[in-house]
Amino acid sequence: MSDIALQLAQIVGERFISKNPEEIFFYSRDPGLMPPHKPHYVVIPHTAEEIQQIVMVAQEAGIPIVPMGAGMSLTGLVIPLKGGIVIDMKRMNRILEVNERARYVIVEGGTSQGKLKAYLENHYPRLRHSLPDAPATATIAANTMIHGQGRLSQQYGFNSDMVTGLEVVLASGEICKIGSCGLSPYWFSKGAPLPDLSGLFLGWFGATGIITKIGLKLYPRKRMRDVEIFVTDLEDLVPDMVYELTHTEFVEDINVFAQPLPMIFKDNHHITLFITGDTDEELEFKRKMVWGCLGQFIKSKDGGFMSIPPVMKPTLLDMPQRSVSRFADVKKGGGFEYSGPIIAVERYPECSRKVMELASEYDLSYSAMARIIGRSHCMMFGFAFTFNRADPDMMERTRKALEEVSEFAIELGGVFWKPTVNEQRLAIDKMNAGAKNLMKMIKENLDPQGIMNPGNWEVH
Ligand SMILES: Cc1cc2nc3c(=O)[nH]c(=O)nc-3n(C[C@H](O)[C@H](O)[C@H](O)COP(=O)(O)OP(=O)(O)OC[C@H]3O[C@@H](n4cnc5c(N)ncnc54)[C@H](O)[C@@H]3O)c2cc1C
Repeated sequence: MSDIALQLAQIVGERFISKNPEEIFFYSRDPGLMPPHKPHYVVIPHTAEEIQQIVMVAQEAGIPIVPMGAGMSLTGLVIPLKGGIVIDMKRMNRILEVNERARYVIVEGGTSQGKLKAYLENHYPRLRHSLPDAPATATIAANTMIHGQGRLSQQYGFNSDMVTGLEVVLASGEICKIGSCGLSPYWFSKGAPLPDLSGLFLGWFGATGIITKIGLKLYPRKRMRDVEIFVTDLEDLVPDMVYELTHTEFVEDINVFAQPLPMIFKDNHHITLFITGDTDEELEFKRKMVWGCLGQFIKSKDGGFMSIPPVMKPTLLDMPQRSVSRFADVKKGGGFEYSGPIIAVERYPECSRKVMELASEYDLSYSAMARIIGRSHCMMFGFAFTFNRADPDMMERTRKALEEVSEFAIELGGVFWKPTVNEQRLAIDKMNAGAKNLMKMIKENLDPQGIMNPGNWEVH
């Protein structure tokens, strides 16, 4: 073993370090289109103190470190662009505390969405968190790190808005507690009423620190949950329909999808609405409010509720929605990437026309999905294309389509979500000069040697 490998083995134990080619192969890529790049070492630490020591080794040797959750963000954010050490967080998966009355949970930085979901269902059936539709192995810390969105985002904003505190290992090796937990035993706030330091880490893709613990807001889980689908073939009316729906404040989650298959979905836009209640009366009342608010569109014959066959309901109510993962592998061969700019809801019509235009131009299978964030404050519009890795031509066509999406999103006033390195550069170029300079100062101060997930958020 090399000197560095020996030092790492002393920290995590020999079983949890590897530089074997077969393991390096897996850690050099993700399911998306970004070309692979090999790390030198992979480690799987168990505690924040081990991460602290790994960071010190990397500092000393001047080699990069890249934290990794499940590697499902798809846009190359865990690919070690400059080699170094990949820190796989999966052993740090303990659920440390649930404060039931204050409705928050504290978990370690590698805890998966699936683990927290199952834990709450078993031990706290009246509580839930904002689950994304990502595969269950995706991690909570990484999802907030990329400002993900989930099942409660229409009501409460980005999943990162639900963070209640962080423990972070800095590039200096220092362990920092961010938020109320920095001075109180309670993890109820990531910032307020003090200066909110969580912004120095959330959204930075590990380029300023590694999250080792995270506090997350929990919300009431109602006893019943139901789904309705409102269908229209007029994409121009979708923003008005969403506006009316969000005005009721009775819908838990709103997703709009458009896809060519099965045939029943073709040429239509499906506004999927989830409603919840503790009693039949509550559910019925909400259902009536929702029906009522869309009455004008039914009257004008611009849309109507779809009758959902009972066999379809469990699939729609599934959390996470496995149909999304099934679509991701429709072409087989394990290739999937989507660009999901955050964009004003009024831009839905142009986005939905663009995804179809691109699919036809590049002969690709597509799915378009808009998740409403906040009370119509914005949406994540997913331009999703699936491809077969064994087909380089299909990969190239997908790459070109996604490049067009980047330009298009900027034109429409959108902001990239989980941007690739190229999109990060575009965003930095377009950014207000003062904000860009501030980012540069933050990065230079928090990571003076440039070893934290290098390539990402590099401001020159
Ligand atoms: C089928 C499918 C459906 C999806 N649906 C959704 C959805 O509904 N909503 C949604 O938000 N996303 C969705 N995604 C995207 C993505 O999978 C999720 O956002 C997921 O939560 C990312 O978590 P991860 O653990 O895979 O992140 P990773 O890819 O492992 O990491 C993401 C970033 O965070 C950094 N990072 C990881 N751990 C840490 C840490 N502890 N400290 C600091 N930095 C860290 C990594 O370096 C990387 O830059 C979906 C993906 C797929 C494949």
